[in-house]
Amino acid sequence: MNRYGMDLWGSNNFTVNRQGLLCLNTPSKPAIIDMVKQLSREHGFDGPILLRFPHLIKKQLAELYDTFAASILRENYQGKFHAVFPLKVNPYQQLVSHITEIGKPYHYGMEAGSKAELILAMLYTPKHAPITINGFKDKTMINLAFIAAQMGYPVYLIIEGIDELDSIIEIADNCQLKKPFIGLRTRLHSSGSGNWAKSGGIHAKFGLTSTELLTALSLLKEHQLIDCFKMLHFHIGSQNVNILPIKNALREAANIYSELKKMGADGLESVNIGGGLPIEYSQHIKKGAKNYNLEEFANDVIFIMKATMDAKGVAHPDIYTESGRYIVASHAILITPVLELFSHEYHKRELRLKEDNPPIITEMRELLKDLDAHNCIEFAHDALTHVRSILNLFDLGYVDLQDRSNAEILVYQIIKKTLDLTQLNLTPEMEQLQVDFQERYLINASFFQSLPDAWGLKQRFPIMPIHHLLKKAIRPATIWDITCDSDGEISFSPDEPLYLHDIDLEKEEYLLGFFNVGAYQEVLGMEHNLFTHPDEATILVNDDAYQIIHTRKSCNIQDTHKELGYSDNLIKKLKQKIKNSSFKDKDEQKQVLQSVSGIMMKNNYLS
Ligand SMILES: *Cc1c(COP(=O)(O)O)cnc(C)c1O
Repeated sequence: MNRYGMDLWGSNNFTVNRQGLLCLNTPSKPAIIDMVKQLSREHGFDGPILLRFPHLIKKQLAELYDTFAASILRENYQGKFHAVFPLKVNPYQQLVSHITEIGKPYHYGMEAGSKAELILAMLYTPKHAPITINGFKDKTMINLAFIAAQMGYPVYLIIEGIDELDSIIEIADNCQLKKPFIGLRTRLHSSGSGNWAKSGGIHAKFGLTSTELLTALSLLKEHQLIDCFKMLHFHIGSQNVNILPIKNALREAANIYSELKKMGADGLESVNIGGGLPIEYSQHIKKGAKNYNLEEFANDVIFIMKATMDAKGVAHPDIYTESGRYIVASHAILITPVLELFSHEYHKRELRLKEDNPPIITEMRELLKDLDAHNCIEFAHDALTHVRSILNLFDLGYVDLQDRSNAEILVYQIIKKTLDLTQLNLTPEMEQLQVDFQERYLINASFFQSLPDAWGLKQRFPIMPIHHLLKKAIRPATIWDITCDSDGEISFSPDEPLYLHDIDLEKEEYLLGFFNVGAYQEVLGMEHNLFTHPDEATILVNDDAYQIIHTRKSCNIQDTHKELGYSDNLIKKLKQKIKNSSFKDKDEQKQVLQSVSGIMMKNNYLS
């Protein structure tokens, strides 16, 4: 059975049952297809669906806190561990309200990088849990931080530049509200690795250089704010797949921390190590991205902090982490129906054989009939030679279009069968034939909307069918989305091959799942061709059942138009257009209007 690399990327969250259905790996093992069917039956979902599973967020969060707790205990570390959820990773209400609920027992806080996010943090952070504030800040945002502090949250306003500190000093002097704690973001010379490694290093967009740190320290002292200075912050990028640069960054930050302590930062008591914990997106061990797990990471953080502080005689700082991708990426799955397999024009039933066929066609039919594991390569070569001959004969006018079509269907069938028989022992030649004879699967979704990083960064996401899993998947697959953009494609690549099933869509349906799409994809998604956020459902899973607790329909076409600034009376305009057109009959006009406005009440995906 092809497990589609699930053991690499799946974190034990899924399993395949005896009917070949992909199931959640919970005690009741519900099949994902049953959820999709229920959503279609009871809620009329028929396009792409985003499924959210809060139990997978809970799992990640518990793992994060438990792993750090274990490292802290083992090392007899004196500082505490705290974590916050960076809202930019997924600010959707459904997700955020679950984060609040699940995070309560841990005092899991939130991180905000803009005013809009900060207001959400003020509304959704559990009582007593911390709020950290990053990013570029104007005075209004700094004011908001004072309000959040007055509301009772431990607020950490993290300074990215000296001018922000000037604004804080000014506001602190002029208002009576409780002061937020102050953090300084340091610009490390150590930087991260991978697709998103732009947040660290000398050229980083954010953070104070060592000179600026010293300036900040003097300013804080001068304005009696030194007691507010509680946190040293760094963030070296997202999806840091390599542990080595992280260890360097930790060592560098630990030394900066102890230097600042020595220089009189008496209130300083925590190191915020930012985000960046990676998740595995690869389905192939050879392309596996990350080289460490959470346990190694936690051990490194605690060990390096402890060793550095002990050597310098400084108390162990509390640790804050802002990892977001790690917490929420796995909670969401995009399920999309396959609408079409493009090789269907090469189906055997399309053969239009004659009473009397050219001898080459007859021979090709025999090749197809007698093909087996032993002779397939030889027969494939014969078939390729034959089709070339037919094409030459066609150019010379000796065979007709019907013969040519038959030859094309037959060679396709012969190569397809050969690839099936040689799949486990691919020679470079067969690999090339896979590319040449790959299958195109058209799915009812937009990559621009639902997997923007697949388009923008060529990031791979795990892809697998959610049923038919006992059957062998033999077709080298390229996936096309329904946008009319040639970039809306995840193409077959021989070094990371994806094989899908040869399904007759006229007889049965075929649903693909795209996994680990819960971080960044939704909020970065764009409405190319006006495909908006798909239908979504939140599903609670307990020991013996699952329950759909929330659904949200994709935006209908009318509302999509409104978002673009079109007025409410597009329908009125439409009525006028129809009236002035060649639809002369009043009843017909009415019918057409009804039909088009009916379409506008539905979403834009194919149905
Ligand atoms: C984006 C960001 C994070 C979250 O990063 P992940 O890779 O999702 O863990 C945390 N902290 C800061 C400052 C960020 O900018």
